[in-house]
Amino acid sequence: MLLTDKIKELDPKWVIEEITWANLPYRRPRKAGCNARLGVHGWGGDVPLARIRIGGVTGFGWCTWGKDQAQSLIGLPVTELFDEDGMLKERYYGMDFVLLDWLGQVFHLPVYRLVAKDLLPEGAPYTVPVYDTSIYFDELDIPDDAQAVECICREVEEGMSRGHKHFKVKVGRPGMWMPLQEGLKRDIDIILAIRERIGPDGKLMVDANNGYNMNLAKEFLKATASAKLYWLEEAFHEDDQLYSRLKQWMQENGIDTMIADGEGLASTAILDWVKRGLVNVLQYDLRGYGFFHWIKLGRELDRYGALSAPHNYGGFYGNYAQAHFAPSIDGFAFAEWDEAKAEGVDTSAYRIENGKIFVPEADGFGLVLEEDVFENAARQSGWRVGR
Ligand SMILES: [Mg+2]
Repeated sequence: MLLTDKIKELDPKWVIEEITWANLPYRRPRKAGCNARLGVHGWGGDVPLARIRIGGVTGFGWCTWGKDQAQSLIGLPVTELFDEDGMLKERYYGMDFVLLDWLGQVFHLPVYRLVAKDLLPEGAPYTVPVYDTSIYFDELDIPDDAQAVECICREVEEGMSRGHKHFKVKVGRPGMWMPLQEGLKRDIDIILAIRERIGPDGKLMVDANNGYNMNLAKEFLKATASAKLYWLEEAFHEDDQLYSRLKQWMQENGIDTMIADGEGLASTAILDWVKRGLVNVLQYDLRGYGFFHWIKLGRELDRYGALSAPHNYGGFYGNYAQAHFAPSIDGFAFAEWDEAKAEGVDTSAYRIENGKIFVPEADGFGLVLEEDVFENAARQSGWRVGR
């Protein structure tokens, strides 16, 4: 990766001068409903952002560090933070997104060019395949099945009008929210209808948020086989015994849907199950696990032919950051898009078309912070450390 060489060009006299932190509210275009285990997800939340100044240059990004932790960085030479491969040292994990954006500003390069495994061609627009992840249980109050299916299909059409072609759909209604048979039937009806609506080319995934058991998962997969699901996510709680039986049953029944898991408790054993082929797509959270940590993990998964799909619901900033992570490994599966707008962050350089994110050829993560909004939020409820 280019960053390995670029890091050596940093002026060793540059020290971390100032870090300012604030939460900026973000809002979805539509209220997100329940999933199999949680209630209404709502209109949005806050994006925790930090802005750093080093050598007079600023960058900003996702950051959940507290003030005291940030204070410990002030005065440190920036070269101290990285190892000789250009990777962030583990004790500074959490400042990944902030520092990567800053590096992009310093070298006048997008982050994706700095971290790409292989040099990316110039000239052609850089794109990343993306799916709309916003299809929740938004019809639980509709008793009529046909009307309920239509309600969800309209949401899919909204996504299509925003440039989406691929969708992940919440299932698992029989786990808690609906009676067993009615819930399973509705899950199945919705998936078959969405497949018809998006046509054969769009990839269709489902996420049960652990709301199925083995029998429900089998029933569901059997009834939706014609929809050719790309992956089944969190069918039930991570369990290698159940997964190996499910995999065997799927093989016997000619269902080649992949198994995706890992966003929940992120059991360390799951990595071993990925290596054994019981889980095909690993989904540790992008922000929580971190950008550099994910590069290390993704490189390891590449060796086993497994796919990397960092979890990215409810984060706003990750919609954009994940596109830059994608070329750092071979096995990036799919970007997860949770449509939202945040106050004070200009995302207009990005667009989604034909199921792809078109990533701008702009410095850092290609996002513009509206300084007055950020400063105001920092003064009201954030903090600042510096010399
Ligand atoms: Mg999920």
